[in-house]
Amino acid sequence: MSGPPPAAAAMSRSVRRDPRFREAMVARTATTGWRSAGLCLRHDPELFFPNAAEDPAPALAICRSCPVAGSCLAAALDAGECDGVWGGTTPEERRRMRQVWVAVAPV
Ligand code: SF4
Repeated sequence: MSGPPPAAAAMSRSVRRDPRFREAMVARTATTGWRSAGLCLRHDPELFFPNAAEDPAPALAICRSCPVAGSCLAAALDAGECDGVWGGTTPEERRRMRQVWVAVAPV
């Protein structure tokens, strides 16, 4: 039998169904013009880099209303960003997404 183990396949399916991931696939761009439209520019940057004891929810809530969240997440996945909130995701969420991203959207 070939293919990924069942747990890996289930994770891959879960990631592929995630609307944030799907939006990132569509909004991926080699340009960086989207950055100037990010809602985070209107907020304290520290909010988007919470330490382990801080809640990322306020930053995630801002990202949910951001018009460039897809491009932002795509850039973070392309770059393998390990820190901070990007495109409405936490570092842990991106670690899972990145495994699928590099398979379906090679850099
Ligand atoms: S999605 Fe979040 S981190 Fe990315 S540009 Fe928008 S507000 Fe900033």
